[in-house]
Amino acid sequence: MNYKAVLKNIYQTIIAEENEGKVATYIPELAKVNSENFGVHFLSVDTEEHGIGDWQKKFSIQSISKVISLSLAYKIFGDTIWERVGVEPSGTAFNSLVQLESDHGIPRNPFINAGAMVICDMLVTHLKNPKADFLAYVKEICNCDQIQYSETVARSEASIGYRNKALCNYIKSFGNIKNDPKDVLDFYFNMCSIEMNCKELSKTFMFLANSNFKTSKGEKLLNTSKTKRVNAIMQTCGFYDESGEFSFKVGLPGKSGVGGGIVAVHPDRYCITVWSPKLNEKGNSYRGMKFLEAFTTVTELSIF
Ligand code: GLU
Repeated sequence: MNYKAVLKNIYQTIIAEENEGKVATYIPELAKVNSENFGVHFLSVDTEEHGIGDWQKKFSIQSISKVISLSLAYKIFGDTIWERVGVEPSGTAFNSLVQLESDHGIPRNPFINAGAMVICDMLVTHLKNPKADFLAYVKEICNCDQIQYSETVARSEASIGYRNKALCNYIKSFGNIKNDPKDVLDFYFNMCSIEMNCKELSKTFMFLANSNFKTSKGEKLLNTSKTKRVNAIMQTCGFYDESGEFSFKVGLPGKSGVGGGIVAVHPDRYCITVWSPKLNEKGNSYRGMKFLEAFTTVTELSIF
């Protein structure tokens, strides 16, 4: 397969024909991003790689970080995590509170904000220096040193994060947040503020594609069964209430963020990251969705 040519063709078509959507503005700092950025990075399990457009520019990974925090908590605590968070698609918006009442404070899955906060709570309990340890872990999986939190983005989100604060306090009222909500939210806002470029994200997600993956310290992150489960949750819950649509059109496990990034994984074959900040109505990158749909259609390489 001539991936380079396929990627280039799709990129040129999308840049010429597709440009709908709006940059997320509810986090003031994200509104400042140039909406025309458009980058792609493809990395195969045999380390063939191709970058196009703005693939070297850093952006706010936002909810994509939830896959990393889930994987770390899963590695540390094993299947006990499922006592505190479910694995069902929610069918509601990422920041919804409605199901928590009937579900007694157990969020539907780890990728909606409520579920991610419960996972953050587990990490805040376990890690000695939660923010520093988490960042060190991200660098270790990615095997990249140049990864940082954006204090500006974290502060910007904290300044308007009323709904997330409400969510965290509400879950606390059911006893499913053990720490002070302030500490959990600080960890959560920082985690979402991590900045990476497309290549760094493709490399970071390789542990979900390559069964022989080892971190820079030679460690295996998740065993085969846990890898299967994280990929399964990405498949069913990775795109807010558009997860069915993504699965239908693209046919890969993946995760999006409101910064406009999408990472998709084809187990045993490749990781691909697309970044374009304009989001569709469901909060997923408009061009990102179009690009990945075309990519799995042309290559006939989806998991189905
Ligand atoms: N930090 C964002 C929030 O909680 C993440 C949203 C997202 O990327 O889905 O609103």
